[in-house]
Amino acid sequence: MKRFHCRCGAQLFFENHRCLKCGLDVGFDPQLMIMVPVDGETSVYCGNWSDHGVCNWLRPRDNSNHLCAGCQFNRTIPDLTLSDNLKRWASIEQAKKRLFFTLMELRLPLESGWQSPSKGLLFDFLDDERSQPGHYSGSFVTSGFCDGVVTLNVLEADDAARAAMQSEMLEPYRTLIGHFRHESGHYYWSLVSDDVESKTIFKGVFGDPKADYATALRRYYHEGPNFDWHSSFISTYATSHPLEDWAETWSHYLYIFDALQTARAQGLITDAVEEMTIAERIVCWQDLSIVLNEMNRSVGGSDAYPFSIGEGVTQKFEAVEEVILRLQAEWIS
Ligand SMILES: [Zn+2]
Ligand SMILES: [Zn+2]
Ligand SMILES: [Zn+2]
Repeated sequence: MKRFHCRCGAQLFFENHRCLKCGLDVGFDPQLMIMVPVDGETSVYCGNWSDHGVCNWLRPRDNSNHLCAGCQFNRTIPDLTLSDNLKRWASIEQAKKRLFFTLMELRLPLESGWQSPSKGLLFDFLDDERSQPGHYSGSFVTSGFCDGVVTLNVLEADDAARAAMQSEMLEPYRTLIGHFRHESGHYYWSLVSDDVESKTIFKGVFGDPKADYATALRRYYHEGPNFDWHSSFISTYATSHPLEDWAETWSHYLYIFDALQTARAQGLITDAVEEMTIAERIVCWQDLSIVLNEMNRSVGGSDAYPFSIGEGVTQKFEAVEEVILRLQAEWIS
């Protein structure tokens, strides 16, 4: 994330709708990619802000669409008359907007399924029996990606429930933005899965994307990862199937890009992430993540980055970057 400032000089955060120092109304302009004052003339807040107090993005005043460019990707939002859903949805939107910021910084194609039914992206944020026991009896929503749509169980936005799921699944890390990053990896793979060059890059490091999915997942949940998975996989879940390995590696590629961009914006490192090679990013991030983890332990928190990057993972990051270059080229053409 970059660093933004109000005209009074105070730092503005990506989620702000008001400057905490001078009280000026501010919002994020997705065309300029900066936080700006809201003048109510050329640009106005997203309709989800005026209607629900959710989202601080701006939209052009004369735009026929009531929603900002980011909220237009929603196909289903949770039923806001049900308890906790407004708070949960607000957290979901914040995480989704952070993902979008990184995707836009990477100049990746980003069209909604309304704009492009065959290639666009949409989101369903759904309840089930676990998130609203009194209203969705017998239903079970699994988060995932299918046919251009990312589905997220809104329970993932409930901190206590998410911590319980993390503990049950023995995961070192489970966050909303992590879900979004992972599922975006499946989406972008779907855009290039017929591209011969991308398939060659993929098969060279991740394996066969068409390997039987159900069999692979069943084996993973029964047997777990090999004892030496650390050397070539970023996480245990990455060992379950080549497509999950891709999505996990993609997710960490975005994580590290965002974290290094933030570190430079906040004065912790001098080099720009865009100008670093993958190898340089990994070295820089390994040093920085140790500092970050130690700081977190000092203040009583858990590790911010509970992963180590094995040698075999570097070439997987390079493969992700090669595919990103192909996606960027498609966007430009
Ligand atoms: Zn200010
Ligand atoms: Zn919005
Ligand atoms: Zn996945």
